[in-house]
Amino acid sequence: MATTPAPKTFRVKSFGCQMNVYDGERMSELLAADGMSPALEGEDADLVVLNTCHIREKATEKVYSDIGRLRREDGSAPLIAVAGCVAQAEGEEIMSRAPSVKVVVGPQSYHRLPEMVADAAAGKRATETDMPAEAKFAALPKRRKSAPTAFLTVQEGCDKFCTYCVVPYTRGAEISRPFADLVEEAKLLVAGGAREITLLGQNVNAWTGEDDKGRSIGLDGLARVLAADPDLKRIRYTTSHPNDMTDGLIAAHGELEKLMPFLHLPVQAGSDRVLKAMNRSHTADSYLKLLERIRAARPDIALSGDFIVGFPGETTSEFEETLHLVDAVGYAQAFSFKYSARPGTPAATMPDHVPAVVMDERLQRLQAALNRDQLAFNQASVRKTCEVLVERKGKHPGQWLGKSPWLQSVHFTGEAEIGQIVTVKLVEAGPNSIAGQLV
Ligand code: SF4
Repeated sequence: MATTPAPKTFRVKSFGCQMNVYDGERMSELLAADGMSPALEGEDADLVVLNTCHIREKATEKVYSDIGRLRREDGSAPLIAVAGCVAQAEGEEIMSRAPSVKVVVGPQSYHRLPEMVADAAAGKRATETDMPAEAKFAALPKRRKSAPTAFLTVQEGCDKFCTYCVVPYTRGAEISRPFADLVEEAKLLVAGGAREITLLGQNVNAWTGEDDKGRSIGLDGLARVLAADPDLKRIRYTTSHPNDMTDGLIAAHGELEKLMPFLHLPVQAGSDRVLKAMNRSHTADSYLKLLERIRAARPDIALSGDFIVGFPGETTSEFEETLHLVDAVGYAQAFSFKYSARPGTPAATMPDHVPAVVMDERLQRLQAALNRDQLAFNQASVRKTCEVLVERKGKHPGQWLGKSPWLQSVHFTGEAEIGQIVTVKLVEAGPNSIAGQLV
């Protein structure tokens, strides 16, 4: 393989979940710490890292079209690295299908990215898809600058093995990052400007650890320790599994002021037969009872969910059960998708796949119900006064954008600064954002 000059500029393009966004930020810090600089907007980068997502159908095909689009008019191409879950799933295969790719690195090995890029520039193909998650975090540079809101990965991997999901195969077994490392990283983020930290994990509420007195604690214990930092104003966490919602975490929603009243708790379907076939190991009823306990602890909590329509074998009446569950909960926000078969997952070989036209119709009906409830939640917030964390300038003069405690997008005009928490009266609600007046 020909040698190329060591890349001076880089661009990291992240697709998919917040974990990938976090990993993308860490890869950028790594490359910057290695002396490279981020390419300016519109500037051609010497190195492009495609940080891929494997969740959706055609995810893999999309990577190859993205690679193709990196070829320049003169036929040359930047040094291309493929990272993330497709890199983990496909490995060397990517290089044989796309020879312009010189580096393939999995989500647990990207701490080796700078040396792999150097190897590739020296003419050696570099592939790394081992799963040493602990080693990765220990090798990452200390966090520096941060926006008012920051992500902090506390847990990785998943042991749930839902039958439609690739995460246990691409991200590995559940690991909890050490308590001391998390406290230190949170301090650096706050010192760098973060006023809100979102604790991240594929199964974030499965996090466990030992505090500085050697006591076993869960995610609620970690949140309570982080909340003691006076400059940290807000704590959020995502993504949770119903079976890992502990009594302590539910109680924390009622007691810990800095723990925001927003909970993303995927359920995927409303039919117990479908939930069983998905290996979700909870029923619709146990999920609803859990939400009742959470709402008892924090009555104004905003609930968010994930849904899959058209899981193999899903009947019309089973889909109706999903709509009934949605009606019973009244989600403030939710994500909904058509089932897509992922290679290597048990569901991909299940019989009775639902025709695409039926999936389309069901998704439309589900999204109509979810949009109805999201608008209703926002409208119910009108005339309320709440605190908004200012995240950035709006497109209109004097306009600012931020989030309410319920993770609603709020825009307002007036005197404010990025990173400030201001009091806003909510005056007009739309499906995706709310207009406010500075109080
Ligand atoms: S709990 Fe979430 S990440 Fe884990 S297997 Fe199920 S869907 Fe995938």
